[in-house]
Amino acid sequence: TKLRVGLLFGGRSGEHEVSISSARAIAKALMAGQNQEKYTVLPIYIQKDGIWQGVTVAQQVLESGTPLISDGSGNLWQFPPDVTDVDVWFPILHGPNGEDGTIQGLLKLIQVPAVGSGVLGSAIGMDKIAMKMAFAQAGLPQVKYMAVNRAQVWSNPCVFPKLVDEIEANLGYPCFVKPANLGSSVGIAKVRSRSQLEAALDNAASYDRRIIVEAGVVAREVECAVLGNDNPKASVVGEITFKSDFYDYETKYTAGLADLIIPAAIPDSVTSQIQDMALAAFTAVDGAGLGRVDFFYVEATGEVLINEINTLPGFTATSMYPQLWAATGVPFPDLVNQLIELALERDNG
Ligand code: ATP
Ligand code: MG
Ligand code: MG
Ligand code: MG
Repeated sequence: TKLRVGLLFGGRSGEHEVSISSARAIAKALMAGQNQEKYTVLPIYIQKDGIWQGVTVAQQVLESGTPLISDGSGNLWQFPPDVTDVDVWFPILHGPNGEDGTIQGLLKLIQVPAVGSGVLGSAIGMDKIAMKMAFAQAGLPQVKYMAVNRAQVWSNPCVFPKLVDEIEANLGYPCFVKPANLGSSVGIAKVRSRSQLEAALDNAASYDRRIIVEAGVVAREVECAVLGNDNPKASVVGEITFKSDFYDYETKYTAGLADLIIPAAIPDSVTSQIQDMALAAFTAVDGAGLGRVDFFYVEATGEVLINEINTLPGFTATSMYPQLWAATGVPFPDLVNQLIELALERDNG
């Protein structure tokens, strides 16, 4: 009998569209070649408003590749009946309400194995402040940063200028203002002046209660993929190149604006340092299954700084994570297969 894989996609986040693309690629891989005999794919779609749709509607969204605009009907807490047929979940939701431990908690509660990190790993991996604390504890070098909360930004006009003074004194310009719990560069601004900093803080506060401000670094951007549970493996290292000011949303998702170079043309010693750091980062946040770890390689000094981990990285056919594994000798269909096996292995206990 075939294993019934619940492919959970869409989601209540700014990365909804990316999730649809990831799910399309994964569904295709689960229904091709040898995987075809092993798996039955049950797509389940979470609308932007959080309402779940069963296989029939989800299949239509997968085929069209475009989000279903909610008509406002449907009960948030009424899950489609197909949900009970699932043997193993493959959540491929990016960003808040999907990559952050919320879905992982729900799937744990219903006692069905799921691909990827659990509640803790997902939550730490999503919150850049908690993540940086975990990385620091593991001795991983990173940029200087300050944690800020919305209440400080939206405080009375006497408090806010002091916060801005402090950021200027500690981090200088340029610095990066980020909502702590997001992805795909949504809500991120690179700022070069006090007025830009103030506006960026206000904007970030509209996305998240928790905000992080980081010193800007001039560096090459390299990424490493991790696969496994208690004995994870690191892939070859890839580099991202682009002409824009930074790797923002438009650069990430407009064809032709960024190039992935796999493997990155960097010294072997730097590659192995990055691989070691990627594994340490994965362990530091309690990752499981998969993770893509992003780094800054400061060529001038040879220094490698960790930027972040993504516990449910982009998974389209052209995304960095599957491409890194393909270049390491694990083709896409094999990769999804291994991830499902890792989910079953981990959740058996
Ligand atoms: P992802 O889509 O990978 O989840 P994200 O939304 O979590 O991205 P980051 O990876 O933290 O965001 O930052 C997005 C981009 O902004 C980086 O790839 C880089 O181009 C730029 N960036 C972020 N922080 C810094 C920094 N401290 N110094 C220089 N560039 C930075
Ligand atoms: Mg991220
Ligand atoms: Mg992300
Ligand atoms: Mg990133």
